[in-house]
Amino acid sequence: MRNITENLAQVRARITKAAVAAGRDPRAIRLLAVSKTRPLADLETAIAAGQRAFGENYLQDALVKIRALGPAAEWHFIGPLQSNKTRAVAEHFAWIHSIDRLRIAARLSSQRPADLPPLNVCLQVNISGETSKSGLHPDEVAELAPRVAELPGLRLRGLMTLPAAARDPVQQRQPFRLLRELMEQLQRDGLELDTLSMGMSHDLEAAVAEGATMVRIGTAIFGARLR
Ligand SMILES: *Cc1c(COP(=O)(O)O)cnc(C)c1O
Repeated sequence: MRNITENLAQVRARITKAAVAAGRDPRAIRLLAVSKTRPLADLETAIAAGQRAFGENYLQDALVKIRALGPAAEWHFIGPLQSNKTRAVAEHFAWIHSIDRLRIAARLSSQRPADLPPLNVCLQVNISGETSKSGLHPDEVAELAPRVAELPGLRLRGLMTLPAAARDPVQQRQPFRLLRELMEQLQRDGLELDTLSMGMSHDLEAAVAEGATMVRIGTAIFGARLR
């Protein structure tokens, strides 16, 4: 339990250090604690240590946690989403980072309850081109982004990526730079975007150096995953 509190402090220190090294304001980078597969008690410890935003990949698990913890946390859906499961995301989450199809976006928009603010959305980009990963091809982003931005129940905030693993810091930065350049192009095209969701436990420094505004951190906070 103590570990989670210490780990969180260490991750926040890593973010601050990376931001300062890049000449950025550390407050411009949000920490999303990726709590998939973690028990409720771990999330409660993190909340007690001041963590607010949590990322979940598995809808059924997430709904149990949301029911238990509710507004003590801000909920982000970061996993693949099938069209028959959009309603629960529209009703219970503040953000979804993994949009790569208009059909899913349109369902989420129409299912977003009118009494909630628009659902914040990032388009997921398969920047390394791995066939095993979901996400848009970089060439598809310019066409989908304005169509998602028009949907009334959604607010398009930016782009997300999950690049191929690389150890070398120079190699780690390349996909993050490409994602930033993609977002900058969309901004020049007139879209008001403010979010680059990129960087995980092993590569958050590289992501911050390339402009990440939200890093998604699991194992560095909660330890190695059991499944
Ligand atoms: C699991 C996961 C993370 C966190 O990865 P760690 O290496 O545990 O920090 C981030 N983003 C997504 C989409 C994930 O599925």
